[in-house]
Amino acid sequence: MSAFNNHNFKGQKALIRVDFNVPIKEGKITDDTRMRAALPTIKKVLADGGAVILMSHWGRPLKDIEKKPHLTLADFTLKPVATHLATLLGTDVQFCEDCVSDDASAKAAALQPGQILLLENLRYYKQEEKGDKEFAEKLSKYGDVYVNDAFGTAHRAHASTAVIADYFGAGKKMFGLLMEGEVSAAEKVMNEAQKPFTAIIGGAKVSDKILIIENLLEKATDIIIGGGMAYTFFKAMGGEIGNSLCEDDRLETAKELLAKAEAKGVCIHLPQDSIFADKFAADANTSSGLNTEIPSGWMGLDIGAMACDTFSKVIRDSKTILWNGPMGVFEMDKFQHGTKTIADAVAAATANGAFSLVGGGDSVAAVNKFNYADKVSYVSTGGGAMLEFFEGKQLPGIAAIKN
Ligand code: AMP
Repeated sequence: MSAFNNHNFKGQKALIRVDFNVPIKEGKITDDTRMRAALPTIKKVLADGGAVILMSHWGRPLKDIEKKPHLTLADFTLKPVATHLATLLGTDVQFCEDCVSDDASAKAAALQPGQILLLENLRYYKQEEKGDKEFAEKLSKYGDVYVNDAFGTAHRAHASTAVIADYFGAGKKMFGLLMEGEVSAAEKVMNEAQKPFTAIIGGAKVSDKILIIENLLEKATDIIIGGGMAYTFFKAMGGEIGNSLCEDDRLETAKELLAKAEAKGVCIHLPQDSIFADKFAADANTSSGLNTEIPSGWMGLDIGAMACDTFSKVIRDSKTILWNGPMGVFEMDKFQHGTKTIADAVAAATANGAFSLVGGGDSVAAVNKFNYADKVSYVSTGGGAMLEFFEGKQLPGIAAIKN
């Protein structure tokens, strides 16, 4: 039973760190996934007879204002989030225009069971990202219990995500339901993976994925490498990759990773073939062929039919699957087939009893685009946090509650 579900919030004020860093255009929220993900936690506190004080960051106000002086703090307000949250919950949401003002203290103190208060953007203060203790202590005074439900920022040692936990004793700090779900899915893959364990790593850059591949060499039986990053590996092996994406300063790294995998007996699967394009565009002319024979001037923008087959077989035979990064430029119709095929194989393996975790921005976007979100075991809400978790790093937001 979870610590959060076990706790009775009756008569208490729960100070909940959420990740409401949602896309907002002209005052309207264009994707409220992160907000909806936090609703079960909020509802449980209210149902117990507790009050809810929510805090979040939104964007990078101080950094952006420095670069673009026409912007002001008001451009980064969480006010539209308060309005939208009220609609989602069907109840009033109070708002406080400064997260550490007397007004915030007064509003928090006056909050009654069943009521909700959202504090203004924490990043109006540089102290938030600096992990300032005084700032964290001020925030901590608002609540009786601290709940961290912001997995998306769990890799940051910020005031509201980690430092604040020091001001709450045992039994007064805990994960929310979203964070519990994320941590338990990630730990299941990292520590209790049933074999065969296949990691599917795609996306644009090798440099972003070196650490995760290195760490997975200790855990996985198979690593599938697709997307733009695959071509750096081919070039490292002496192939001609035309105009495909390549990081020339990572050729040695790619070679080293392949050698390490061989030494450890981990099977690395690179795509044999690709869909080629004569330019990086949705209306490009396309052809297909082996990755050893990419015509000069052309580039690989998706895995080919043979790679789809081989990868699918490996995935379908797996008991544990971790997927981070698309197989091609799935945003363009002509280059989405590979990613869709892989999503299909992950769904089939899951239906067959495998545990599958999709984590990391663009593979999550792909799974949602192709409507596979409910056909995999878990879709993570935290891109950077999930990546760092699988790089083997201790996430400050998790450590602050657990240690
Ligand atoms: P990442 O954020 O590193 O996971 O990269 C995701 C991005 O990689 C997506 O926007 C894809 O369009 C892009 N991508 C995937 N495959 C390729 C490719 N073969 N060439 C160029 N970009 C790619």
